[in-house]
Amino acid sequence: MTRLDQLDAYALTFGAPVVATRVVDDDPHQAWVRLAASAFYPTSGGQPHDLGRLDGVEVVDVVIDEAGVWHRVAAPVGTWPVGQLARGEVDAPRRARHRQRHSAQHLLSQAFVRTDPAFTTRAVSLASADCTVDLAGDPDEAAIAAAELLANEAAYAGWPVVATEIDETELGRYPLRRPPKVSGRVRLVAMGPDVHDDPASAWELSACGGTHVRNTAEAAPITVLRSERGRGGLTRITFRAGWEAWEDHRFKHAVASRTATSLSTGVPELGAKVAALAEEAAGLRRALAEARGLLAEHVADDLLGDDPTPGALLVAELGEREAELLAPLADALAARGATAALAVVRDGKAEIVVASGAGVDVRPALAAALPHLSGRGGGRPERAQGAGPATDGIAAALAAAHDALAG
Ligand SMILES: [Zn+2]
Repeated sequence: MTRLDQLDAYALTFGAPVVATRVVDDDPHQAWVRLAASAFYPTSGGQPHDLGRLDGVEVVDVVIDEAGVWHRVAAPVGTWPVGQLARGEVDAPRRARHRQRHSAQHLLSQAFVRTDPAFTTRAVSLASADCTVDLAGDPDEAAIAAAELLANEAAYAGWPVVATEIDETELGRYPLRRPPKVSGRVRLVAMGPDVHDDPASAWELSACGGTHVRNTAEAAPITVLRSERGRGGLTRITFRAGWEAWEDHRFKHAVASRTATSLSTGVPELGAKVAALAEEAAGLRRALAEARGLLAEHVADDLLGDDPTPGALLVAELGEREAELLAPLADALAARGATAALAVVRDGKAEIVVASGAGVDVRPALAAALPHLSGRGGGRPERAQGAGPATDGIAAALAAAHDALAG
């Protein structure tokens, strides 16, 4: 069969006779169709398959085996009798994105090797807009920035991209970044100023069956989004190419602009502004905790009177507005020698704190209360806490705690 995608990555419509068909997984409404020629790219080499239509019917998957390229279509096998001419149409935007991703990957992989020969590409994924290359070695921030710059310089140089087929016996003439996985006829993809005259002169030269742009500028810009250490000592570089890099820029620019506007500042000042706000928020949290502590002290004094009875027992449900006082008030009461069981409903959950400054082990009281809240909790003899979803059990929980503490 003829692989039209290998001859011209921009040829998207074609006609070819049906050579073979088979049913998909015993489903009579779906068929695999093989043609004498196809422009559809089958999943291989880290590049996902094309989508499109065959005689107007959607092609949902494309695979390759020894026989050739198979198109999965949502129609009965009988729609395509062997020998009938079928018209294929590859989805253009998806192919365009795959061309940009794959060519950008070649440029970036080459740029990494030129930054440090140790940074060889071991695996590639072009399955989504956020593409990845897994590199040997451990490039630092500076090395990644250098490789990213180099890849973009190569892209914006606007070099031609040429695919040629050679015999494996000629391979010695070609300095390949990536050796072939196939034997016999080998397809090479060359990128460089003079690759039309001499593919061996390429800046980037690899054995590859993918679909590529015809000029490196079409894959620009190439943006590295992040790097992370992965399995087997490899470093995963996530990047975007061309149209999808611009989409990422547009999205992030909108987020940054909206955020800056809402903070009455400009995008360049955003980092300092957010840091200042975070510091201010931390200060406010500290001040608020201090104020709540003071308030809890006053409330504890009010509850116990000027002359607290040693071992006084207080059991109470706090109102929702006092929810933040739950823990500080229990602690303030315990600090005054009392024993307290306090509960509150907050965010649809019942919370309970039991504390004692009178040497009472409060854990049995918590254990008696929690079943009424369908709750869980724990703590030390002098202080324990828990929470549960059964908010309507709060009165019964406090009563059970009271009985346990009074008994
Ligand atoms: Zn490739």
